[in-house]
Amino acid sequence: MDDGLDRGGSKDLRRLTPALRFLLPYKKAVAFASIALVITAAATLSLGQGIRLVIDDGFASGQADVLVESLTLFAGFVVLLTVGTFVRFYFVSWVGERVSADIRQAVFSHLIHIHPGFFETNAPSEIQSRITTDTTLLQTVIGSSVSIALRNILMFFGGVVLLFITNAKLSLIVLASVPFVVAPIILFGRRVRRLSRTSQDRLADVGSYAGESLRHIKIVQAFNHQQADEHAFDVRVDQAFAVSVQRIRQRALLTAVVMLLVFGAVATMLWVGGQDVLSGNISAGELAAFIFYAFIVAGSVGAISEVLGDLQRAAGATERLVELLESPSELPEAAAAQTLQDADVPLAFREVRFAYPTRAEVEVVRGVNFDIQPGEMVALVGPSGAGKSTLFDLAQRFYDPTAGVITMAGRDLRDLSLASVRGAVGFVPQDPVLFSGTLRDNLLYAQAEASDETVYDALRLAHAANFVEQLPAGLDTRVGEDGVGLSGGQRQRLAIARALISKPAILLLDEATSALDAESENHIRLSIEGLKGRMTIMVIAHRLSTVRQADRILVLDGGRLVDSGTHDELLASSDLYARFAEMQFAA
Ligand code: ATP
Repeated sequence: MDDGLDRGGSKDLRRLTPALRFLLPYKKAVAFASIALVITAAATLSLGQGIRLVIDDGFASGQADVLVESLTLFAGFVVLLTVGTFVRFYFVSWVGERVSADIRQAVFSHLIHIHPGFFETNAPSEIQSRITTDTTLLQTVIGSSVSIALRNILMFFGGVVLLFITNAKLSLIVLASVPFVVAPIILFGRRVRRLSRTSQDRLADVGSYAGESLRHIKIVQAFNHQQADEHAFDVRVDQAFAVSVQRIRQRALLTAVVMLLVFGAVATMLWVGGQDVLSGNISAGELAAFIFYAFIVAGSVGAISEVLGDLQRAAGATERLVELLESPSELPEAAAAQTLQDADVPLAFREVRFAYPTRAEVEVVRGVNFDIQPGEMVALVGPSGAGKSTLFDLAQRFYDPTAGVITMAGRDLRDLSLASVRGAVGFVPQDPVLFSGTLRDNLLYAQAEASDETVYDALRLAHAANFVEQLPAGLDTRVGEDGVGLSGGQRQRLAIARALISKPAILLLDEATSALDAESENHIRLSIEGLKGRMTIMVIAHRLSTVRQADRILVLDGGRLVDSGTHDELLASSDLYARFAEMQFAA
């Protein structure tokens, strides 16, 4: 119970049904577990009869061989119970783990193909926690809670029947006292659970505070903020401690009250039952069996009330996971999606309009038209927010335009397979991301089977070969999550090489805005020079050297193409460009 995984449950347990679909492939394991479950429940209940036999026939008879006989029977039940418990536990837990693994895989493989816009309304960190926390919750439920519930339901009914068979009068006493025992357990249990949830939240605060400070340690120390951080951290730790103490107090109280009630009930039973044993109404064995069943019945009620909360939370978790699994991609592929096989891929925008789904009322691309011929180099310039990156997003079909058409080799992107659109494009982002792994892993990102020769060709074209050769382990150098240890210019050159390895027809290059050192800048300029003519190049330009290289410059302002021409033509003809160039390229 106290697992801190609570993230809102659902009273409606029917919400769990979609999870059943994931159980279907494992019918056999479920069947084994169910059989074992029934057998163990029956064996547990039979133990009571075993106890009665051992006491009444074994001890009371005064004969050693009867005792042995009774004990053998008792041992038989115990063996059955042990083997059954092993089988049940193994299969139930196995199914729980397998199903949650399957759900994780299903959710991830669904989301990795979905339109990127999805993650603007669904934060990746939230999804990450759904994939781990919610599935873990389901795993607990399938791998134990459901089985606990079923076993205890069987034991409850079996126990009650056997209670009445053993002694009806005592049974009525027990049943009447059940609510008095169960009510405080449920009441305190709820309080403890609520407190442990709060305690988990406080603990999460502690963790995230420490994480943030340590991640940004240089800022912390540069501003001499250590003491303030220590203080703020202490406050959080103490808050977490205070909540824990509250929880511990409730828990201790709960345990004491339960002990009191349980032993009170046992004493009452022993007193009433003991009178009956003394007066010869029932045997000592019957009384012992009776107490055993009473414990079973009480225990099962407690267990069921405990796991009910688990089931409700799992229902909530299932709902959230199913929501992820069923969210449709807004970039549907045509049923007969065509593949691009052309070596030359002209790119064209026709009356393209676009607004981001999260801000549908603001059009960021407002009727853009252009044609780019194979082998041409086009620079996109314009003030920040003009929509340059958005045009790149549209060209790669990360979004569909709200109006107008984008074509590659004369075909609407929506008629082409997504894989062939992205295959035709090599994308170099402004702030290139390198995944953790070796440089080689990163370079082979799009083309796992490319040879070292291809890799070095690409590195040479990107003017990155020299510095890669100087790295301690060359291509096998490990780069961290953000390419730790590499400068911005080096990362951008690696990103160019990575894009070149799959031999794209169109290279989309978002030039780094951050100041690159003169050498890096020169390398990139030379690299572009070497690529010109080999492929179509579209570059979001932030540097004079780049716009000078371009065959044509497109000037974008407020989502519209306002001018086009070479740098010198535009300087002469376009006031906007002249002013812009003066500010942007002043250096
Ligand atoms: P910069 O040079 O600063 O990167 P840009 O010309 O590339 O600017 P875009 O990034 O294309 O501009 O943005 C164009 C407009 O669209 C901006 O007003 C921006 O706020 C908005 N925008 C960009 N991305 C999103 C998004 N994911 N959701 C909503 N609006 C967005």
